[in-house]
Amino acid sequence: MKIISINAGSSSLKFSLFNMDDESVIASGVFERIGMEGSCYTIKYLDEKIEQQIELVSHKDAVRILLEKLIDLKIINSLEEINGVGHRLVHGKDKYSSSVVITDEVIADLDQFKEFAPLHNPANILGIEAFREVLPDVFMVGVFDTAFHQTMDPVSYIYPVPYSWYQDYGVRKYGFHGTSHRYIAKTAAKLLGKENLRMISCHIGNGASLAAIKDGKCIDTSMGFTPLAGVMMGTRSGDIDPSIIPYVMEKEGKNASEVIDDLNKRSGLLGLSEYSNDMRDILAKAEEGDEKAILARDKYVRTIVNYIGSYYLLLGGVDVICFTAGVGENSCPIRRLVCEALLPLGVKIDLEKNNDRGKTVKISTEDSKISVYVIPTDEELMIARDTVSLMKNR
Ligand code: ADP
Repeated sequence: MKIISINAGSSSLKFSLFNMDDESVIASGVFERIGMEGSCYTIKYLDEKIEQQIELVSHKDAVRILLEKLIDLKIINSLEEINGVGHRLVHGKDKYSSSVVITDEVIADLDQFKEFAPLHNPANILGIEAFREVLPDVFMVGVFDTAFHQTMDPVSYIYPVPYSWYQDYGVRKYGFHGTSHRYIAKTAAKLLGKENLRMISCHIGNGASLAAIKDGKCIDTSMGFTPLAGVMMGTRSGDIDPSIIPYVMEKEGKNASEVIDDLNKRSGLLGLSEYSNDMRDILAKAEEGDEKAILARDKYVRTIVNYIGSYYLLLGGVDVICFTAGVGENSCPIRRLVCEALLPLGVKIDLEKNNDRGKTVKISTEDSKISVYVIPTDEELMIARDTVSLMKNR
């Protein structure tokens, strides 16, 4: 069975084509700069990588060319081989707590919820509509980033603000990266051979969030009403005192959305280091003794450790901590610094094992009170799995 996972952004469309008989990736790639000058695509399959500049006026162009290329390159013989398409969808508010078969109602809801994800939801609709036009009869599923967090109870998701903000405007914590946290939760349960686990999933990439997970269900997560909240990130501040916003507006003569833009794009590692949002650059500079890079690194670690500490209490102890995404999978120094700060919880890691990168590995020692794993995330596979499971339940 062949399934395509799609992640449509405002000017890009990423895809992975899976053979779900063995969950292998047959081909993957990205269409970029859609609707802009210099649009192009990259397709990887077997050991080949094809890159081409091509005019892509719309997402529909990208989907049409993708399907043509899959046939031209003999990756598939005919379009009938594609059994289903799974779409990564960002915001399903509190209506969607699991993946769904895409219907007109789902598309209308994505449109209705767009004020909660102004960049992502409209792009997700473009991706769905492109497939509807080019491959009208294909089975399609939507997998929401917010869905996994719908099991949080009100004490976790409510903000201590006037209750009418929640009731009238939907102001609450939604959480993001849900598909990744769900994949990590499932994979860790499989690795440990146990469903009933108290787990902290640390998805730390350029965007970063942590989730407290009990028996496979999300209890709390660090991102909030938007993906700006929680731990410090590459360019995002994470949690700050909201009074900073009007104060800086006045100092710099900016409006609220300009300051929010600073918090989204010019804060985090980039903001503190005044150098880079990439952890590799920060660590290299810190090695040279650069004070701002050291501060950025240490603040980054501190915010993660703070969340882990609070989730430890929330979960009533922790069985396993998992690291994933760009930094979590690859950055041995950051994992080491986080785990060293967790020594009071009985966390001990094997520095040799911690040097492994980008693969599934247990990095805690046998006498560590909490198991610590690195697990590469695979949101695309999770989307393809959900597509298959909804297809079987039809
Ligand atoms: P996104 O949130 O954009 O999906 P990723 O999960 O791809 O981000 O993570 C990208 C980040 O991962 C980079 O900005 C970089 O900081 C970090 N990263 C990748 N490789 C390494 C590495 N070897 N060491 C440290 N950090 C790394």
